[in-house]
Amino acid sequence: MDIDEAALSLPVVDDLRSLRETTWFNENVRTAGEGLQRVGLALADVEDAEARLRRFAPLLAVAFPETAPSKGLIESDVIPLPRMQAKLEQTSPIAGSLWLKKDSHLPVSGSIKARGGIYEVLAHAEKLALGSGLITLADDYGALLSPSFRRLFGRHRIAVGSTGNLGLSIGIMSARLGFHATVHMSADARQWKKDRLRAHGVEVIEYQQDYGVAVEQGRKAAASDPSCFFIDDENSRTLFLGYAVAGLRLRKQLREKGITVDAAHPLFVYLPCGVGGGPGGVAFGLKLAFGDHVHCFFAEPTHSPCMLLGMSTGLHDAICVQDIGLDNKTAADGLAVGRASGFVGRAMEQLIDGCYTLSDQSMYGLLAMLDRTEGIRLEPSALAGMSGPQRVTASRAYHERHRLTADQMSRSTHLVWATGGGMVPENEMQRYLACADPGANAL
Ligand SMILES: *Cc1c(COP(=O)(O)O)cnc(C)c1O
Repeated sequence: MDIDEAALSLPVVDDLRSLRETTWFNENVRTAGEGLQRVGLALADVEDAEARLRRFAPLLAVAFPETAPSKGLIESDVIPLPRMQAKLEQTSPIAGSLWLKKDSHLPVSGSIKARGGIYEVLAHAEKLALGSGLITLADDYGALLSPSFRRLFGRHRIAVGSTGNLGLSIGIMSARLGFHATVHMSADARQWKKDRLRAHGVEVIEYQQDYGVAVEQGRKAAASDPSCFFIDDENSRTLFLGYAVAGLRLRKQLREKGITVDAAHPLFVYLPCGVGGGPGGVAFGLKLAFGDHVHCFFAEPTHSPCMLLGMSTGLHDAICVQDIGLDNKTAADGLAVGRASGFVGRAMEQLIDGCYTLSDQSMYGLLAMLDRTEGIRLEPSALAGMSGPQRVTASRAYHERHRLTADQMSRSTHLVWATGGGMVPENEMQRYLACADPGANAL
């Protein structure tokens, strides 16, 4: 594919090419009212997704007993990080207070993918179940765990391409309902994730190449089998809506914690970004919930800045990180994506306030710092959001563009979205922690 020369000579592209940690603020950002128009989805779609998750809650509470305390809702806590904030501020200040959204500890699969991935499997299962005539919208969906529905689902396949966590979520949920699940895993996927899936009876196909190839091969294999439903991480509106539910839930959660979000108390949210569906869907939900009072930023590894590259050049999925000489190799396996979703980049192009990159070593450093200060352990990808609050605090230009005063900044909330890590095995975690020490060997 020929790439526009002018796009390739932008200064920001130069920064990305040379693997510098880069912060890019989006000059095309519009008000929530305007920006939401171009997404092609609306509040009613997100409410529909929330209602579907509520119909499935009784089933989930039985299928995954760890969700019983939340009555079958898959949701995570929001906690303050006072000690981490103090530690970070030894290098550069954060105006406002630092909080963590613990999607890393979501039940079933321990990552943000427990939102979108599980939701899309449930939406597909519901369609098949309603189509069979064996159940109606008003029935208790617990019945879907019965042998007759297992037989129905057993005649169907579900496939997906993944760097690990999406496969884990979709595989576990699909297998639990009785579907034949096939996960096409990129070279980045950690061994323990593949092992865990196989233990659940999921077929795992491994590739020596990156995420783009795994998705492409999965799509191809599924296309030749009419009983196979392919979950398309690059384009799926269903996945996106599963993630978006987080926005309305967060509004309620912050209210319960006594955290105000309004013009005088802005909310900044930092979302690690791979292909874009997870952070894009969550950001969409956040804009619906908080309007112009929320500012959303995407965080990516220096070796895989596909969304920053696509948005800053306006080329979206017509350009990939390999086109500017990057290798898409990163310890942040959840973010090892070379080409962003064209759907998400375009849909969110007026709603995302900025993107930035950070090195693997920065993520490891933050991983160890969070462990030492707060006793919270995450996977490397999930730390990408952690350097955002300092960058936003430091940008006078950004404050001026949004007319953010020092007062507003000092009353703001910075929410770092921890996207994964709750299920990382202890030996793997020890290796991550060792990598924070510059003397140690890289993974
Ligand atoms: C998948 C993933 C992300 C990013 O989600 P995308 O939909 O790929 O952008 C971030 N963090 C972790 C841990 C993930 O697994």
